[in-house]
Amino acid sequence: MDRSVDRIRRELYGESISPGVAVAKALLFKQISLDALEMNSFPVDDPAMEIKRLEIAIEKSRAQLRQISSQIEKEKHETGIDLIFNVQLQLLEDETFLLELKKLARAQRMNIEHVIASQMRVLETRFSSIHDEVIRTKFLDIQDAYHRILRNLLDIEHVRTNPVQRIDEPVIFVSGRLVPSDVALLDFNKIRGIIIEEGSKVSHVAVMSKSLGIPAIINVPGAASLIRSGEPLIIDGYTGKAVLHPSGSEIASYREKREYFLSSKIRKQKKGRYCETRDGRRIKLEANIGSVKEAEMAMAYGAEGIGLLRSELFYISCGHLPSFQEEAEFYRKIIAVTKRRPITIRLLDLGADKTLPFISTFVEENPQLGNRGIRYLFNHPDLLESHLLSVLSVCRLVRIKIALPFISTLDDLNKAIYHIQNGCRKLKLNYDALSIGIMAEIPSVALSVRSFLSRTSFINIGTNDLVQYIFAASREDGCLDEYRQCNHPAMIRLIRNIVCTAAYKGKEVSVCGEIASDPNMAALLVGAGVTAFSMQPSSIPSIRRLISEHAFSDLQKLTKKAAALETESEVNQLIRESLYKV
Ligand code: PEP
Ligand code: MG
Repeated sequence: MDRSVDRIRRELYGESISPGVAVAKALLFKQISLDALEMNSFPVDDPAMEIKRLEIAIEKSRAQLRQISSQIEKEKHETGIDLIFNVQLQLLEDETFLLELKKLARAQRMNIEHVIASQMRVLETRFSSIHDEVIRTKFLDIQDAYHRILRNLLDIEHVRTNPVQRIDEPVIFVSGRLVPSDVALLDFNKIRGIIIEEGSKVSHVAVMSKSLGIPAIINVPGAASLIRSGEPLIIDGYTGKAVLHPSGSEIASYREKREYFLSSKIRKQKKGRYCETRDGRRIKLEANIGSVKEAEMAMAYGAEGIGLLRSELFYISCGHLPSFQEEAEFYRKIIAVTKRRPITIRLLDLGADKTLPFISTFVEENPQLGNRGIRYLFNHPDLLESHLLSVLSVCRLVRIKIALPFISTLDDLNKAIYHIQNGCRKLKLNYDALSIGIMAEIPSVALSVRSFLSRTSFINIGTNDLVQYIFAASREDGCLDEYRQCNHPAMIRLIRNIVCTAAYKGKEVSVCGEIASDPNMAALLVGAGVTAFSMQPSSIPSIRRLISEHAFSDLQKLTKKAAALETESEVNQLIRESLYKV
């Protein structure tokens, strides 16, 4: 379709979630909505034309799948993902599959997208009552194959065309909505910016873009329908603005701004490694990372260590199930970059929106309340074992702390410890020398942290999840932002209680959710007794600056006042009036 007539300069606005600017061509990633397809149905006089379109799209899809398979073979990936693509290829090469669709096209006399959408609905209903994992996986493969055909029919950019080598040139990635499994298939080396039409500040995608230092804006109305692949685009992650078809002078000025940003960013951060309050209380500032590149950024911004290594991001970015050696090698690279600073490796926090295309899972009614984190690992014992062995294998190299994700009961903790002890026996490691901690991110743990202390060395408070469960508002739903009130007095009281309880037993508490990247809240939490934070690397300098401007005794008074308030806006007002008085 020729869109050249439509080169109108447009400004789009959203919420900035990661600073920086970029100028590049857009790459539009569209989820296909069956509802939208069904609304765009129309009768046709000549089904033969539609059948021809179908044949072309299927041929294109087959060629893509063959190319992916041979690419994967060339790169000698070990398991899983090649099978998925082979199954889809077999389906598309099956003559009866094509015959069935042709028959439907002739009978319905509707546009072929409608025919496919209606066939997908039939399959959806047929499979919805089946809970057998193998059959459900088959259904997901079929669904994926249909999506591929639809994308080719509609000429929608295929981010998923080739999961190994996807994007050839720098792009600004544009999408309606995005889940981490989509992000997993992207080549971040080529992504200069991210624009999402509907997203939430604490979604995993937001967390990733921030920690990778990629400018990103969310909640940009109309982004996915107004922007098309290939169109020139500017993203300004400072102001939340995007400019489509910018003028030449705008491009030049943004390029300059980008250069300035890139060079000053690192320079600025070198000064001062340690953070302390004005009256000398030491506060540890560590970084949240998921890749070697982020580890480099963490060091550039002066992180004292890695407070949260999201191991699942490595799995997701692999595109296949990593072998023991591959995973251990990943940790060794991080250790090399961080120059032997302490590292907290969180065991795989998979499930909900962080799924792996090469591991089949049940479709859940309510995934955020479902089979996530440690529960997912218990349900995949082979995965748990190989993952644990990789983590444990690097424990002798440097001070590694192991954080357990999504613990909700003491039984979870005991069971996880049992598995870790088994791993230690296999590798002849002394379990007692390990540092094991839990994520406090589920209210049942946050409210009874005392019970967990005798078997743990540290607590990591995961406020991103904690806030979604405390306020019953999914972190992936941008429309619920107003309900996820991280600065609410209830959150402050809860965190203060966790810290006091743990401090009494001499156990360290680190806050590692997004709240730790907000200088105001970090300062307030210092007053609540928090002595360690882990955050996106780029936030470290501003947090260090604000904390060092205030005395612990003043922050304690401030936190006491904040905890006694009733609403989040009262807390925000108190912060404005108190922290910036000086
Ligand atoms: C959290 O829940 O706050 C957290 C740090 O973990 P994640 O964002 O990876 O769920
Ligand atoms: Mg979490």
